[in-house]
Amino acid sequence: MPSVGSRVYARRETRQIHVGAVAVGGDAPVSVQSMTTTKTADVEGTLAQIYALAGAGADIVRCTCNEEAAAEGLAQIVPRSPVPIVADIHFQYRLALAAMEAGVQALRLNPGNIRKPDQIKTVAREAKDRGLPIRIGVNGGSLDPDIAERHGGATPEALVASAERELAHFAEVDFDDVKISVKASNVPVMIEAYRLLSETVDHPLHLGVTEAGPPPAGLVKSTAGIGTLLSEGIGDTIRYSLTADPVEEARAGRQLLEALGLRERKGLDLIACPSCGRAEVDVIRVAKEAQDALEDRKIPLQVAVMGCVVNGPGEARGADLGIAAGRGKGHLFVKGEVVKVVPEAEMVETLVTLAERITKDGIEAVLASADEGAQAEAEATREELLQIQGTDANRDAEKIERIREVAEQPRG
Ligand code: SF4
Repeated sequence: MPSVGSRVYARRETRQIHVGAVAVGGDAPVSVQSMTTTKTADVEGTLAQIYALAGAGADIVRCTCNEEAAAEGLAQIVPRSPVPIVADIHFQYRLALAAMEAGVQALRLNPGNIRKPDQIKTVAREAKDRGLPIRIGVNGGSLDPDIAERHGGATPEALVASAERELAHFAEVDFDDVKISVKASNVPVMIEAYRLLSETVDHPLHLGVTEAGPPPAGLVKSTAGIGTLLSEGIGDTIRYSLTADPVEEARAGRQLLEALGLRERKGLDLIACPSCGRAEVDVIRVAKEAQDALEDRKIPLQVAVMGCVVNGPGEARGADLGIAAGRGKGHLFVKGEVVKVVPEAEMVETLVTLAERITKDGIEAVLASADEGAQAEAEATREELLQIQGTDANRDAEKIERIREVAEQPRG
């Protein structure tokens, strides 16, 4: 049961399946998935993308198996992949059999376009014999036409009915090594479908908003749908479906899980103040410089970029490390304590050095070796800025006074 601060999410109980070495469902951590965009027959190109996806946070990667050459490619890809591979199957059940022969760790079947019961059962029987799981991947855009007609379109009930029909075929051959997705591009429909499904079955659920589109709208829609369900304890594995480099999907999935406290932080969490009349530096530019310098180093710290030393170290005292500007200098702080003061031009470089030291030696060691006088120097600069800017740097009181004067003036 993961906790976030004092709040505890009750995760819905699901049975557990295994996609290769990755457990999905039960008490397993919520996993991140993505899908390659290369031709699967291009073995080297596909493997390069799989490695990039794994590096960005994907625990499981799906590859299309849309032709015989793709299945042949999978036979060479699977043994060299750093993560389990799921074969994505549409229309041709024979390609599911070929993908299993190639050694994939799981299949995804679309019940909307492989509809003959005998074919579905043949695949399920083979998966059962090989001990491989199948994802029933229902998709609002390719729903079984007779189910869509009965329900008046791709409603939440229709999506769940499609999954149930596939489960019934599987049950006939005593196969239940299954996870399920009921994706829709409409976020409220998707949320309702998963809520309904979670009340209907105890199989692990794979969450996603299908065809979410390019960022930023695609990111917003996916986060709205997936994040809402995860915060209700629903969901065991997730995929962002973005019209973008799939590395962005893996990164976003991982970041969402870290933000919700469902996975340990693996990479950088950069926070920055919104800036205000006190800002002594261009916060957007410095935050970008810090992000570029730190992101590829896989430093698992929360790093703050704050516009001024008047409030910055205090406002970001929860961050592991941060910088705050003031009077041409950069003030480096660790857990709210200023440990070093450097010329402003050197502050990002010094931030990186301190981040590496914290990763290597720990926060206590860096706090213990703080520059003598750094805290006092920061305090002096803070006082100096307060003298110059006053306590009301945004001139709020002055503006409010003026607004009242204007509002009270007689009309006409
Ligand atoms: Fe940023 Fe300083 Fe303004 Fe806070 S007071 S928002 S740290 S510039």
